[in-house]
Formats: sequence, structure tokens, C-alpha cells
Amino acid sequence: METENWVETVRSFLERSQDSLPADIHSLLSEAIDGTYTSLLPRVFFEAVQQSAVAISITDTRANILYANPAFTSITGYEAEEVMGRNESILSDKRTPKKIYENLWSTLLGKQPWSDTLINRRKNGERYVASLTIAPVLNHQGEITHFLGMHLDVTEEHRLAREVENNRELVESVVEAAPVVIALLDESGQVVLQNRAYRELRDLMGGIEPVGKLWSHLLGDNPLSCEEFKGYEVRFDPGGAAAPRWFSCSCTRVDEIDTSADSFFEPMDQSYRLLVAMDISDTKKGQEAVRMNALRALMAEEELVQSTRETLAGAIYQLQGPMNLVAAASNMIERRGASVSMDNLRRVLREAMDAGAEAMNRLSACMPEFLAEAVVPVNLNELIHDALALNTEKFLANGILVEWNPTAVLPAVTGREHRLCGMLNQLIENAIDAMSERGRKLRELTITTTQEDDDVITILIDDTGPGIPEEHRFQVFQPFYTSKGMKGKRAGMGLTMVQDVVSEHSGSIAIATSPGGGCRMALTIPLQGIPDGGES
Ligand code: FAD
Repeated sequence: METENWVETVRSFLERSQDSLPADIHSLLSEAIDGTYTSLLPRVFFEAVQQSAVAISITDTRANILYANPAFTSITGYEAEEVMGRNESILSDKRTPKKIYENLWSTLLGKQPWSDTLINRRKNGERYVASLTIAPVLNHQGEITHFLGMHLDVTEEHRLAREVENNRELVESVVEAAPVVIALLDESGQVVLQNRAYRELRDLMGGIEPVGKLWSHLLGDNPLSCEEFKGYEVRFDPGGAAAPRWFSCSCTRVDEIDTSADSFFEPMDQSYRLLVAMDISDTKKGQEAVRMNALRALMAEEELVQSTRETLAGAIYQLQGPMNLVAAASNMIERRGASVSMDNLRRVLREAMDAGAEAMNRLSACMPEFLAEAVVPVNLNELIHDALALNTEKFLANGILVEWNPTAVLPAVTGREHRLCGMLNQLIENAIDAMSERGRKLRELTITTTQEDDDVITILIDDTGPGIPEEHRFQVFQPFYTSKGMKGKRAGMGLTMVQDVVSEHSGSIAIATSPGGGCRMALTIPLQGIPDGGES
């Protein structure tokens, strides 16, 4: 505003408010326009208000404008002269709710300053968002004499804030509705954002945070130190009759610029981990069916190898008895010394021993080897599930109830998958045999997996059969020991094989009494069952 203009503006303001303006303010302003003022302070105040970027207006007690600064003109489009004597309501827009004005006036009449955001109209009719503060000006008697209004056009800030809010709402609703499990972890490992699929999974897990279950062994102790990864398949076993679930898990680093005042000049990043898990159970189900068929065929083959080995080992064992007798007889004859009459017998015995040794060698040579198998990461829950599936018909035929209590997510052990599966199958078959005795009413098989120690997995197989008496618990692992006589198809080699497989995987097996009074087989298998790349 030109100097002439503001001098005129103030002069007309003084003329109009001759009666209402306190005498001291009147004389100060008069001095300011006449240039006769003696004090620096009023002039500085006046210039500061004139040059302020905030739209400033002074009104009487009825909101009639007495003064408006240049910023008021540039924001509203009204020249100061145009608004003199007019009510501030020329700026009002009917989109501003009535109760805002009611609150404005009740606050001001209570002699309190008031602030809020409302919609104003410029002279050209254009609407803008105004951040308005009004303060009552009181005289020495504490009465309101004027109002001081200050406002800013915050349309752009409002637009940006709305845009950010809209984007946030959009992202949130997309994340919320996404058909994948999503969680955002902060530096302390807390879940700061999750979606509906995540919460549903948490319900399925009985209220336990899925992050701890699905990602724990992938993320390690410090989630933020872990590298990004994707496509890790994690199996989740809800237990009971519920089918296992499979998730393809990924982890992505997300950095956000810190918005606190501390990082105003030196932006600091706040790091998060975005965890996404896609339920791939349906795809897995199809693959599982194919895998189970292949496993059935493989187990049948392994069983054939096992029973052939048992038969041959049994034959060698049976042959060993007469061979020992022949050897003893031959030794006796040798000790009695040379005699022509014994020569024939000695020769016959030697021939019998040679023939026997050859027969045993031939039998040993015929012993089939187990199929060569690589050492791979193996999920024991999955193998138990497989072994149970292989025996489904037997469970049904014998009325056996199966209770499956897996630890929801087990880390993999390194070992030979089919050998371990064969072993578990053997233990389950033993339990079925034990419970299928005629007259046995309670037939329950309970299998539990736990990971009490970080590096060891425990498997408990409890049945409600007759159990194994303490005095026999050592012998049952010896070859050809059987409590069932030789009628059965297995000649007491099953637990010997189990012991072999457990030892091969650096584990242990112990027999105890199950809670139901039957047999408990307690196995422990270290995670490094067969050390990486190593052969046991
Ligand atoms: P009005 O008829 O003016 O008033 C609506 C209601 O407000 C009335 O029903 C009454 O309850 C109350 N009211 C109005 N005047 C008084 C009064 N003097 N004493 C007690 N109660 C009263 N409004 C804007 O929209 N934008 C602005 O930028 C703005 N700046 C202002 C700056 C100052 C310094 C002051 C004092 C007021 C300002 N106002 C502003 C408020 C303005 O004076 C009007 O009250 C408001 O715009 C509503 O106008 P209206 O025509 O819709 O209703």
C-alpha cells in the first residue's frame, strides 16, 4: 500500500471511531499519521502490522471493520477502503456451519481469544479455507472495545493434508482388504500395522501373533538386521483335524523419513520391515496329493527292501546255529587227534562248513541296499502328517482315534526324509498293532511335537495299547526280539530299524508309559540331525 493511502486509511478510521476509540490510541495514531509521534514503539507496531503476511483487521464490537492491512486485501480481494465500516460477515460462506459462528461469538463475548478453520469467500466469489484467530481488545476497565482478527489462506495446506489423508485411507483400505497377510514391524519388533487377513490368522492361531510363528526363525532375534527375502514357504499346523496351512513368506525393508522436529534439518530414516504371507494351501494341496502318491510308492519299495533284508538277515541268523554246531563238532574231532576212521567225518564236516559259509556269503551278497537318499531340510510335522495319512485306512478299520498336537511352526531338521518317514511309519504301525488286540476298548493314538530346546525337536507317540514292561524296554531294540512270536510278518526288526534311523540323525529314543497306560515312544531329533553336507 502506498504511504498516502495508508495515511488516508488511518485518518478516515480515526474520524469514524472518534467516539469509540480509547483516547490514548487515538492520539498515538494521530501522531503516527502526522509524523509528530515521539515514541518509536507505536510506529514499529504499526509498520509490523502493515507489512505482516497475515491478514489483519480491527473491528468494533459488532464486527464492523475499522482497519484492514495490505495482506487482508491480497487474500480477500477487498481494498481496505471498500471494507471500512462493513461487517466481517462479507467474508462468510454458508458452507461454514452455524455452530462455528455461535462458538466464535460466545468465546469472544466471554473475553477469550478464539481460533478455528472456516470457509471464506473472496470478493470475486472464490472460496478459500481460512485459519482464523480473533482476540478481544479490552480497555482498562476490562471491557471489550475492539476485536483483532488475523487469518491466513490455508487452502493449499488443507488440500495437501486432505490428499495425504486420502492416500493414507486408500492405502489402508487396500492393505486391509488385501487377500494376503500383511504386517509392518517397527525397530522394536512391534507390529505397527496389520490387516484383516493378519487378524484372522491370529484368531486361527489362538491369539498368538502370527509374526512370532511364521517369521520368527526367518527373522532371527533382531528383525531389522535381517536381509530382505521372498518366497519362503512356511508350514503351519493348526493341529487336530484341521488341515495344515502353507504360506509363502516375504520380508521387505521400508524406510520412512522421520517427521519429528529433531530431523527437520537432517532427515533421519525410520526403518520398518514389511512382512507379507500368501496362503498357498490350495496349491500345496494339489502338490501334496501327488507327493503322497509318490511317497506311498516309495514307502512300499522301502518296505520291500526292509522285509527282504529282514528275511535274509533272519535266514543268516537261523543258519548260524547249525553252522556253530558243525564248527564245534569239527573242533572236537580235531582235538581228539588224527585217526583214519574219523577222516571221512572230518572231511564231511569241513565240506558242510564250507558250504554253509558260502551259503551265508551268498545270502549276505543278496542283501538289498536301502535307496540312496540325499540329506535335505525336513519338516517333521509334515512327515508325521504323511505317516498318519499313510495309515488312515488302518485307523478307520481298527476304530483308532488320532490326536495330533503339532507345534504350530517347526523349523526344519537336516536329514533323510524317507528314512525318517519310514521310521515314523514303523512307530505308528507298532502302535496300531498294539491297540488292535481283540477286546481293547480304548484306542487312542496321540502324537505331539515340541521344540523345548532351541536346537532339538521332541516327538511323543502315545498309544493306549498294553505298553512295554520296563524289563523289556532295552531288549525290544535288539534284532529279532519280538513279543508276538514269529507269526507276524516282521521278525522283530522294526524297532532295530527305528533305532538305526534315530542314531543316524544323532537323536535318541526312549520308551516310557503313556498317560493312557500304554506305550510312549519319546524321540528327540536335533535340528542338525545329519550336519549340513555331512554323512552320518
Ligand atoms: P451473522 O448474522 O453475522 O451472525 C451469525 C450468528 O453469530 C448470529 O446469529 C449471532 O448469534 C452471532 N453474532 C453475530 N454477530 C454478533 C455479535 N456482534 N455479538 C454476538 N453474537 C453475534 N466471519 C467469517 O465468516 N470470516 C471471517 O474471516 C471473519 N472474521 C472476523 C473477524 C473479526 C475480528 C470478527 C469480530 C468477526 C469475524 N467473523 C468472520 C464473524 C462475522 O462477524 C460473522 O459473525 C460471521 O461471518 C457470520 O456471518 P453471517 O452473516 O452468516 O451471520
